[in-house]
Amino acid sequence: MEQKKTVLVVEDEKSIVDILRFNLEKEGYAVATAYDGDTGLEKALENPDLILLDVMLPKRNGFDVCRALREKGSSVPVIILTAREEEADKVLGLEIGADDYITKPFSMRELMARVKANIRRTAMQRSGSADAAMAAGGGLTINPENYQVCKHNKPIDLTQREYELLTFLASHPGKVYSRTDLMEQVWNYGYVGDDVRTVDVTVRRLREKIEDDPASPALILTRRGVGYYFSAES
Ligand code: CA
Repeated sequence: MEQKKTVLVVEDEKSIVDILRFNLEKEGYAVATAYDGDTGLEKALENPDLILLDVMLPKRNGFDVCRALREKGSSVPVIILTAREEEADKVLGLEIGADDYITKPFSMRELMARVKANIRRTAMQRSGSADAAMAAGGGLTINPENYQVCKHNKPIDLTQREYELLTFLASHPGKVYSRTDLMEQVWNYGYVGDDVRTVDVTVRRLREKIEDDPASPALILTRRGVGYYFSAES
């Protein structure tokens, strides 16, 4: 029998924890909970399969929890539960290493779809189904065996999502993908809305890490009005 996946819920509002627990268990997940940031970080380090992380928490806020988790080398998928849409850019733009966010109040159906998509991506990556043929250019190397990306032989720290976006684009050099395509292919979402700007934010973050000059990128290129593609020259 397949082992149950564990979702850690870090949230101080008990009513939200209860409804999340109910729905997650109904979907077949094991649920761990924490009601403050310190306990959340402690439990996050026990290797759950995914973390749902509130921002405003007692003792240590969600951003700090996520940042601390990444500093300790964990790559567990983190979905931030934000109170306001305006926080969304902050979630993805800050150096906290979150994979995704969802705005409260959220639809349970949408949240469950995201949980499932994020866990499935991780499982696929671990089973080594990621495309092994990686393009490299501009001093960039991608090693799918250990998920290590290097720039001029210097390792680069990427979030899981940044790594997946990079490997996806680099596996199809020269092919232009719209933001909607990328949302479906890399984020595994079967729907799109305003969320396409998530793609822009992730591309921007990735460029800052891998490009010699992020303002004039040579690896991840923009086809104006269409989307993004990986340079075919290497
Ligand atoms: Ca809260």
